[in-house]
Amino acid sequence: MSDRARELAGALAAVRGRIAVACSAAGRDPSEVRLLTVTKTFPAADVALLTDLGLDGFAEARDQEAAPKVAELAALRPDSRPRWEMVGRLQRNKAGSVARWAHAVQSADSPRLVDALDRAARTAMTAGERAGPLPVLVQASIDGDPGRGGCPLAALPALADRVDGGDALHLAGVMAVAPLGTDPDEAFATLSAATERLRRDHPGATELSAGMSEDLEAAIRHGSTCVRVGTALLGGRRLISR
Ligand SMILES: *Cc1c(COP(=O)(O)O)cnc(C)c1O
Repeated sequence: MSDRARELAGALAAVRGRIAVACSAAGRDPSEVRLLTVTKTFPAADVALLTDLGLDGFAEARDQEAAPKVAELAALRPDSRPRWEMVGRLQRNKAGSVARWAHAVQSADSPRLVDALDRAARTAMTAGERAGPLPVLVQASIDGDPGRGGCPLAALPALADRVDGGDALHLAGVMAVAPLGTDPDEAFATLSAATERLRRDHPGATELSAGMSEDLEAAIRHGSTCVRVGTALLGGRRLISR
């Protein structure tokens, strides 16, 4: 095992330990919380080592970085079957590319983006570039600050309806990032209540993607089914990259 492989194995064990402790404290089964590894700014070689450790769920925040990395990993580990997801802010003109490499998009935050994703997913399916509809999570802005992406909570139900109405889309759930400088418990409690309300009209929206390296315990306390972890697994990112 290389030094880097050993380092990643140690970090993975620590993150899995944190998830297990948080689940047990919340009376939840760890199988209810999936680990999505955010690989932005890290090379495909690291992702390859993570697949060797048994991980298969990866996420990226920018199409320009993701599309080549997805292809590189496929070349490095041709037998792996990774699932890539898009979690970053997405411009409509990138929808076509994302619909080809992403299993799911977690960052749908406007009706126009949803429409673009629907068209892009249909085109990709027709071209044989994707097997089925695109699972979409609507991204909520918990504090309503438009600067950081996400849809204000008041507009979330209409956005979810829009995803449901897309014939090449499947509404999978809700994603959010806790606002900076606020109590994550409070933020995730608000998010969890909004998600519960949404599920009354959309029982298929089962995923609640919440929690990152710093706040995954709070997110798990409030019902997260998907924690998106970068730094705690891969290490610090260089500031220039993002
Ligand atoms: C980068 C990123 C993460 C991972 O953040 P860490 O603090 O490094 O764990 C999670 N979600 C989104 C949307 C991100 O952009």
